[in-house]
Amino acid sequence: MAGLRSAPPPGWLRDGFVLPRAPDGGDAVYLAGNSLGAQPRAARRALLAAVDEQWAAVGVAGWEECGWWGAPQRLGDRVGALVGAAAGQVVVGDSTSVQLFGALIAAARLRPGRTVLLSDAGHFPTDRYLAASVARLTGLELAATVPDAMAPDERTAVVAVPAVDFRTGERWDLAGIVARAHAAGAVVVADLSHAVGVLPVELDALGVDLAVGCTYKYLNGGPGAPAFAYVAQRHQDVLDPPLTGWTGHADPFAMTEAWSPAPGVGRLRVGTPPMLAMLALDGALDVFDGVDLAGVHAASLTLSDAFLDALPEVVEVVTPREHARRGGHVAVRVGDAEGLCAALARRGVVVDARPPDLLRFGFAAPYVTLADARTAARELAALLRTGAA
Ligand SMILES: *Cc1c(COP(=O)(O)O)cnc(C)c1O
Repeated sequence: MAGLRSAPPPGWLRDGFVLPRAPDGGDAVYLAGNSLGAQPRAARRALLAAVDEQWAAVGVAGWEECGWWGAPQRLGDRVGALVGAAAGQVVVGDSTSVQLFGALIAAARLRPGRTVLLSDAGHFPTDRYLAASVARLTGLELAATVPDAMAPDERTAVVAVPAVDFRTGERWDLAGIVARAHAAGAVVVADLSHAVGVLPVELDALGVDLAVGCTYKYLNGGPGAPAFAYVAQRHQDVLDPPLTGWTGHADPFAMTEAWSPAPGVGRLRVGTPPMLAMLALDGALDVFDGVDLAGVHAASLTLSDAFLDALPEVVEVVTPREHARRGGHVAVRVGDAEGLCAALARRGVVVDARPPDLLRFGFAAPYVTLADARTAARELAALLRTGAA
């Protein structure tokens, strides 16, 4: 059993999920896990228990008795185990955007005197918008290139990169980027939103400085599930975060005049954690207990290979074929992405469209089966053949 779980076959936990309904009343072929993961039954159970047995029954004492106060770090350690982070380096709470804003400024403050914030030109919109604002706030100059072309130098304070491109599904060479950044003396802020839960990330081993990521994609934490932030141990005691909320205070209940940082990663806490969402995530994470992320990625690649192999040659695939450069989703370039996305949904295949012309197919291995991958390719091919979109 343990051996089976460490190298799981695609769809190994299908029964552990509730899948959205297709128009015919059956389960949808759900390939939108790169946007919002399907619902783990364990998340539903945890959420109902939080509502009935904790909030209703215990009330305010739950902050102590139910361990709510410690949840950001406790869940942080659970997520940390999935991204190669030893305990005590990850907190959960707030949104990815909020965590990213804090991480970028804190990173810039680690390199006073340097002048450039280097970011991925094709980064997810919130990452680009926030980098621009952080540049204005800190006085850094914003420079943007594709991750592979990044050439940090002695002026570079911060390098901000995703692990996987949100549009194309390309997996970037995080190890190489970190090595080049460190050789230039810069710090790296990695966004793991499209990587966590679908492939192995080794934050400690790679020497990544700070990282953020969301938990509602491949971690299936539910809509608006709280994000996580990682700070390498070596930076924690000097880290100067901009969002000095009271829960990141060394002694929050002393309610002192001035802010003083909690020791360690706790200083990245901002406000009161969204406990219902946190506890739903706690349940959702059970999916990955004892599961090796390299095995999950192998299963996801088996699915995306089956999808690609079943597509007609004429379809333009923008995701790399090489396994080492592919994350968890595949994107194809089509004429009318929105129209095809809607037409696929009417046929019970849930995917998403990204402007101007990409359709994305997410291969979340816990609940997507080989039959699903082939059905999606067949339905797309049929729509393209008949122009039925
Ligand atoms: C999904 C995603 C986000 C989402 O940010 P939110 O604050 O949760 O809306 C941010 N960055 C990347 C790279 C993403 O893929």
